[in-house]
Amino acid sequence: MRTALITGGGRGIGAAISRKLATEGYRILLTYCNSSKPAEMVVDEIRDSGIDAVAVNCDVTDPREVALLATHPWISEKIDALILNHGRYDRIDAKDLDIEHLRRTMRTNFDGAFLVWDCVKNHLTEHARICVIGSQLGTRGSTHGADYSASKAALEIWAKSLAMKLGPEGKRVNIVAPGFVDTGILAGDSEEKRASRIEEVPLKRIGTPEDIAHTVSFLISEKSEYITGVVVNVNGGLYLP
Ligand code: NDP
Repeated sequence: MRTALITGGGRGIGAAISRKLATEGYRILLTYCNSSKPAEMVVDEIRDSGIDAVAVNCDVTDPREVALLATHPWISEKIDALILNHGRYDRIDAKDLDIEHLRRTMRTNFDGAFLVWDCVKNHLTEHARICVIGSQLGTRGSTHGADYSASKAALEIWAKSLAMKLGPEGKRVNIVAPGFVDTGILAGDSEEKRASRIEEVPLKRIGTPEDIAHTVSFLISEKSEYITGVVVNVNGGLYLP
């Protein structure tokens, strides 16, 4: 049985990825930080479909919690797919950003991904697939979220570096960069804000978590065997680098 580890896999985009990979026969090891209930619900749903799943509480900013995660027996039995999905986005005006906030964002989005990778890197199968969830803002920057954009840009270039290093071993690393996706991140939008976002998108809709999950599924599948180190923009044409 193949195993997928999905950070932040209990809600939003991560939950859609967990569900999608479960339908493809992966047993699902998902992590959550604060939201235990949604994570347990996703696990129950997957188990009801006959696939094994487990939720582990792990704050990726805490090296001890990440080290503990790495002791889970499913990780010792080797990971086939590592999906670094967790993230925080606080929409702070670039001029109001202070060093503490910048550090907190980097600690979660970038250092957290690195720590998880570092703890599981010796427990990956020979042809493991790694998928990092970046953001269109990691390429184009942002007036409200300079810290977030910087963390996603760092993730992107780190993931490309890993792709170069791991390619000769037969492992692939890719990045998915979502545009606007209907999750908790957009939950605070007013009706007007939502309408203006839709207007901005050439495909005239907000993305769904499933749009992202389908792309991740492709990138870790045999159908993308010759693709590594790329950023796949899943944004309805919102931003075309
Ligand atoms: P959500 O806010 O719905 O989910 C964020 C996830 O990250 C949650 O599962 C949360 O876990 C987890 N998380 C946050 N902080 C930590 C932490 N310190 N340790 C462990 N896990 C943590 O957002 P999305 O589902 O939308 O975001 C998923 C990814 O997609 C993120 O990387 C985000 O940056 C990216 N993205 C999203 C876009 C969007 O429009 N939605 C656009 C571009 C990129 P818990 O709830 O348990 O705390």
